[in-house]
Amino acid sequence: MNFYSTNDTSHQVEFKDAVFNSMPQDRGLYMPEQIPVLSDKFLNNLDEYTLPEIAFHVADALLDNAIPQDDLKAIIHDAINFLAPAVKLDDKTFVLELFHGPSLAFKDFGARFMSRVMSYFLADGEKQLDVLVATSGDTGGAVALGFLGVPNTRVTILYPKGKVSEIQEQQLTTNGQNIRALEIDGTFDDCQALVKQAFTDKELNEKFRLTSANSINIARLIPQTFYYFNAYAQLLRQGINQVVFSVPSGNFGNIGAGLLAWKMGLPVQKFIAATNANDTVPAYLKTGVYEPKASVQTLSNAMDVGNPSNWARISDLFKESAEQLKEQVVGYSYNDDETTAAIKQVFDQYNYVVCPHTAIAWKALKQYQQSNADNEATGVFLSTAHPCKFPDVFPQEIADAINVPESVKALENKPKHAVELGKDFEGFKAFLLAE
Ligand SMILES: *Cc1c(COP(=O)(O)O)cnc(C)c1O
Repeated sequence: MNFYSTNDTSHQVEFKDAVFNSMPQDRGLYMPEQIPVLSDKFLNNLDEYTLPEIAFHVADALLDNAIPQDDLKAIIHDAINFLAPAVKLDDKTFVLELFHGPSLAFKDFGARFMSRVMSYFLADGEKQLDVLVATSGDTGGAVALGFLGVPNTRVTILYPKGKVSEIQEQQLTTNGQNIRALEIDGTFDDCQALVKQAFTDKELNEKFRLTSANSINIARLIPQTFYYFNAYAQLLRQGINQVVFSVPSGNFGNIGAGLLAWKMGLPVQKFIAATNANDTVPAYLKTGVYEPKASVQTLSNAMDVGNPSNWARISDLFKESAEQLKEQVVGYSYNDDETTAAIKQVFDQYNYVVCPHTAIAWKALKQYQQSNADNEATGVFLSTAHPCKFPDVFPQEIADAINVPESVKALENKPKHAVELGKDFEGFKAFLLAE
């Protein structure tokens, strides 16, 4: 399977090149040249497969021998070594818990798969791989823990100062070894701009073998399709086959993977793109005008993205018909007050604690179900992070109900290591060159 640039479909590369270069020179994003449609036999019997089996089947179809089957199987078994349960809250409402990996966020799927794919392709004696990653909080932790100790790699994480939670910051800054953290005096968009500029900088590219671990990397997108198939499999086991997914969205990698799964044949009725006040996509779905904006800061900080980088992929998936996109995807956005109210409603109704991102997905699902009362489909909202990562947003009563995992408690005593930098490219470049 080759991968093309969304800006120029005639520019095609092998999977390995797409993984290491992350972004084509023309600043498009890589997409598979063909989207394989999975067999009815597989799709109708999803309930007979485990998550790793589903993951292997889907990845094998997408990669088409870019990695030999036995190696791919080993990568998947090592990377996807935790569960993604769909938990029933009521007859019409399931929560898909994607936070059972080491960083307690869904980004573990992408980061763990990608780090193992990279290390697989990294032959002995090759130049050290330098991973640059901008994070609004959760990416950094997932990537740091995904690459920690992986030989011949070094990870540099850029995070916006004062805009990530304490636990997120601990996950970014307490690793040591091959992981270094940069605390940038700016927003997530500033961090992302620095990384993007580094990839186009000649001098840096001559000195280092740079690669990105952001959600633009195709090796992060692919494993995010796995849990949509696996969620559907779990519902099938309960006799349910009409499903809508509500996805809390920032950079639109998660929902982009869901739409890719749908294109591969997963029979999803509708995707709900749920955002915070950074509503570029819901506004587009209403008005037809795509107008990226500067990001604004919210309680659901992992979704504070005004110009979602994966949007290019979603447009590409629907390049034949923007109408079809509007049929398949509906958007809702909520402010912080609505988010807080949703957290409380979920707690009161189900005695279940959701993180602020997840709360937005729940709220959007409820609004969709209310506006489409005749729709029989079961709603699944994606829980993208464990609530303990965002302790400050909860009132005491709800905070007390959160079950904090042991791995988080252990972080508290580890020393923080981060280098503070401004948001100017020259300072960032000088830092990189000095190492
Ligand atoms: C990254 C993240 C999101 C947004 O996912 P995208 O793929 O960027 O749309 C939502 N919730 C949490 C907790 C996240 O970490």
